[in-house]
Amino acid sequence: MHRDTHLIHAGVRFDAQTGEVADSIRLSTTFRHGPAAERLPGGFEYQREGHANTQDLEQALTVAEGGSTAVAFSSGMAAIAAAFAALRGPGKVILPRDVYNGTRIMAREFLVERGFEVVETDCFNTEGCLELLDTNTRLLWLETPSNPRLMVSDIAALAARARALGILVAVDNTFASPIVQQPLRLGANVVMHSLTKYVGGHSDVMGGALVFAANDEFAKRTEHHRHLHGAHLAPFNAWLCLRGLRTLHVRVARHVENAGKVAAFLAQHPKVAVVHYPGLASHPQHAVAAKQMNGFGGMVSFEMPSREQALDVASKVKLFVNATSLGGVESLIEHRESTELSPPKSPPGLLRLSVGLEHADDLIADLEQALR
Ligand code: PLP
Repeated sequence: MHRDTHLIHAGVRFDAQTGEVADSIRLSTTFRHGPAAERLPGGFEYQREGHANTQDLEQALTVAEGGSTAVAFSSGMAAIAAAFAALRGPGKVILPRDVYNGTRIMAREFLVERGFEVVETDCFNTEGCLELLDTNTRLLWLETPSNPRLMVSDIAALAARARALGILVAVDNTFASPIVQQPLRLGANVVMHSLTKYVGGHSDVMGGALVFAANDEFAKRTEHHRHLHGAHLAPFNAWLCLRGLRTLHVRVARHVENAGKVAAFLAQHPKVAVVHYPGLASHPQHAVAAKQMNGFGGMVSFEMPSREQALDVASKVKLFVNATSLGGVESLIEHRESTELSPPKSPPGLLRLSVGLEHADDLIADLEQALR
C-alpha cells in the first residue's frame, strides 16, 4: 500500500458501539482499574502517561516516518529536551552550526551543565563532520535542511560512519516533513518533529514528536522523561496533529511547488543578494538534496544586502504575513535575526519565507511589489 493511503487510515480507532468514521477527542484524565487493580484493555491509567489520541497520533507518525515507534510531546522543544535528557554521558554531542536557535541554546545550557562537550560544526561539510566523529561521541544531531539557511547534510553518509562507531544519529525533520524526507530510511536512529509546523499545518496547534528506528532503551527513556516531566500532548492537540497528518502529503506537494517558483523568482531578482533553497542548481548541496529529498521543501530564505533593506521588504509585503513559525497554509515572512534568542546567529539581511498554499503568482506579485 502507498504511504499516502496508509496515512489516511493510520491510527483510526474504530468504535464498534457508535461506528463513527472520524477520530474523536477523548478527554478523560483517569481510567478505571480492573478488580485486581490491573489496567483495563485500553491500557491507560492516567492521561499524563498516555491516552488514546496520542497513541493514535503516534501510530500514524510511525507510519509517516517508517519507524518502529513514536513518542509525541507538547511541543517540539519538549521532544528535543527529552532526547537530550535520555542521553547517557559523559561524551561529545555534535550539532550543526546552522541549527534552530532553541536547539542550540538548549544544548549549550543544559547539555553542557550535565557534563557533555557540545561541538558546533558545519554538518553540511561531510568530510569535516566525519572527522569529528569518534567513540567518545554520544549524539550526532542533524537538522537538514537547516534553519534558517537551508543547508543540507548528507544523512546516509554521516549516519553510516556514526552508527559504525555506536553514535546515536538524530535528525530534526521539521523543515522537510516526512513527505519530503525520511531520515530513518537513510540510517538515522531518531527523527524529531515540531508538529507545530507542517504536520499541524494551520498555525493553530503546538506539538512535538520523536520517531525511532527501534523501540530500544533510548526510546523508552524519552517516554519515561515525558511522563515524569509532564510533557504529554493534550488530547485536543493530538487530535489536531493527527488530522493534519492525514492531509500532509497533499499540502506539502503544493508548498514544494510554490516554494520552487518563489525561489526561482528571487534568484533572478537584481536586488536580492543570495537565495537559499536546496532546489536551486546554485545551492551548494543541491546534489545531496536531490539524492535524499523527494522535492525540496516549502522553506526559502534570501538575503538582502543590508538589515535595513531586509526590514523594508518585510514591512512592505501585503500577502505574506510578517510573523515567525512555518508550515501553515498562509505564507509567512520573517526577519530571522530580530526574533532569535540571544545570541542571534542569522545574517542581518536574511529573510525567511514559509511559502504557503496561496497561488504562486500572487505570492510572486507580492514580493515583486515589496522589492520595488
Ligand atoms: N525545530 C525547528 C527546526 C524549529 O523551527 C522549531 C521551532 O520553530 C523547533 C524545532 C521547536 O519546535 P516548537 O516551537 O514546536 O517547540
